[in-house]
Amino acid sequence: MSSDFVNNTRSVPGGVRPGFTVWLTGLSGAGKTTLAEALTAALAAQGRRPEVLDGDVVRTHLSKGLGFSREDRDTNIRRIAFVSQLVTRQGGAVIVAAISPYRETRDAARALIGDFVEVYVACPLEELVRRDVKGLYAKALRGEIANFTGVSDPYEPPLRPEVTVHTDRESVAEGVAKVLACLQSRGYIDQVVRPPSGGSSHLAGAGGERGPAGAVPLSGSPNRHPAAHANGQARGSAGDGTPLPGPEGAALPTSAGAPGLWGHLGQPHGGRLTLRQAPAEEVAAWRARLERDALPRLSVSPREACDLELLGNGALSPLEGFLGPADYRAVVRDLRLAGGLLWPIPVVLGATESEAAGLREGQDVALISPHGVPLAVLHLREKYLAEPRSEALEVYRTTEDAHPGVAAVYARGPVLLGGRVTVLQAPARPASLRPYLLGPAQTRHEFATRGWRSVVAFQTRNPVHRAHEFLLKTALEGVDGLLLHPLVGETKSDDIPADVRLRCYEALLAEYFPAERVLLSALPAAMRYAGPREAIFHALMRKNYGCTHFIVGRDHAGVGDYYGTYDAQRIFEGFTEVELGIRPLFYEHTFYCTACAGMASAKTCPHGEEVHLTLSGTRVRELLRAGEPLPPEFTRPEVAAVLTGAARQPVMA
Ligand SMILES: [Zn+2]
Repeated sequence: MSSDFVNNTRSVPGGVRPGFTVWLTGLSGAGKTTLAEALTAALAAQGRRPEVLDGDVVRTHLSKGLGFSREDRDTNIRRIAFVSQLVTRQGGAVIVAAISPYRETRDAARALIGDFVEVYVACPLEELVRRDVKGLYAKALRGEIANFTGVSDPYEPPLRPEVTVHTDRESVAEGVAKVLACLQSRGYIDQVVRPPSGGSSHLAGAGGERGPAGAVPLSGSPNRHPAAHANGQARGSAGDGTPLPGPEGAALPTSAGAPGLWGHLGQPHGGRLTLRQAPAEEVAAWRARLERDALPRLSVSPREACDLELLGNGALSPLEGFLGPADYRAVVRDLRLAGGLLWPIPVVLGATESEAAGLREGQDVALISPHGVPLAVLHLREKYLAEPRSEALEVYRTTEDAHPGVAAVYARGPVLLGGRVTVLQAPARPASLRPYLLGPAQTRHEFATRGWRSVVAFQTRNPVHRAHEFLLKTALEGVDGLLLHPLVGETKSDDIPADVRLRCYEALLAEYFPAERVLLSALPAAMRYAGPREAIFHALMRKNYGCTHFIVGRDHAGVGDYYGTYDAQRIFEGFTEVELGIRPLFYEHTFYCTACAGMASAKTCPHGEEVHLTLSGTRVRELLRAGEPLPPEFTRPEVAAVLTGAARQPVMA
């Protein structure tokens, strides 16, 4: 049953990466073959040797005699999919370059292969006509060629491809970098880097602008001789002027097979990102079923709604849904899923006894937000009883319901519902927040685009004062980039509102950090205040977002005095860096020291407390409410201005 959540065959620590198929679809001449060749070279530099299945080459060998009817085209694509599946299953890499015009057939290939990355090689028809030295598009447009895809035969572009490459305005190197970033974000390849200098050569449809090897780009045309493509898949050939990825190009993979400086750090937990957000078509189908009232409904708590959002965007990889009983007990007892993978916090869905009584295992259940919006569908697999007292004691180290995390465990229904989820939409968030809600695939893409190989994440639910700024800057000295990642999901009501905090961060970043070194994004997670266990949880989520380092301060994710000051740091000692996959950076309390005349910590300053500037949270709130300035050694004036403004709003009183 734990196989719902852990797939050990994909785990990376041993160095073995799963197989995958990159499926390039697009019109004739859009640049599929060119992209396939450059991608082959880039993957070869990583130690992967992909099989290239070109639609036309396959036609000559596997599918001789097939024509260009829909049925024959589908047969050709199904054969390609079958071979791809065999290679992928054995851990190989496959690149398919085929028009594959029909969505349904590509979706069937996706279902068959599983580890499938669809790349839409997009190019406007006018540009294709311009590139088309043989004039085939022109002929087709004059009605002289039947079954010419995109003109006299349909082409159904992908609705939700993993990657879209616009070959009329993106270079080959840019296209390769996008595909590599996607493969990396899904754990198929090692981390890749793309320095800011992009290649300039555009992805011309191979025809005309390339040497004789791939001279006829128009795959799928009934008029062309299939053999023309037979040598069109020269691997890593740079002789045709196509810029190859590498130091001079755009994509710079880590050296072949070698773990690289940061090795396993920053790979998705469990080996690859699991994004449970459904594609638009599927969402529409589920909504239609909901409108027919064909699904039982269950309301979820704000915390469960946050978990659904994180399951949707991959932040909780490799979880695919809410834990079943074996995983729940293993997590509570051992901080591990039943399959053994490190996992410190139970991600579960509670129901009352009467709610649970109305639901059958095997049923699909609509999960409804506190505002009445359907957020997801639970594919209910197991109903079981929670063990709230042992959960409280093991996870939160207390059974007192004064602890907000424990209170939430007790308030939850006594029955837990386990099973995969299909996420339909994220919970509503204030418009001011939405631009900050990048998912792991997006942050990984950002990091790759900026050429960051090492990224430190900082989790906070407080405004950033000088002490935090100091800590961020010292951490950033050792790595390429900083992900400032405030938590904006459900928190205690006395925490400062998310939009005020975000304005503080913006004010600080604008004046005191180099823009190209920092990404400000938000984590829509609910706080559990589980102290040490939550520190691990926060670290693993940041690993899924692509970070290699994670700052753990004193009393991380603590509340009241339930945890010792250093408990959240010490807990990391129980795990190896390989299983953590992200390096914790431990920090002391920091402050402004008048004797040092600068920021310092107990680690770096020999002076007594009497020369340290410290303000309690209570004193800060008093000053803000009175409209008095905060000392610039404590808070930057730009941040203080935001806080003072907010403190005068009634909501902050
Ligand atoms: Zn000092």
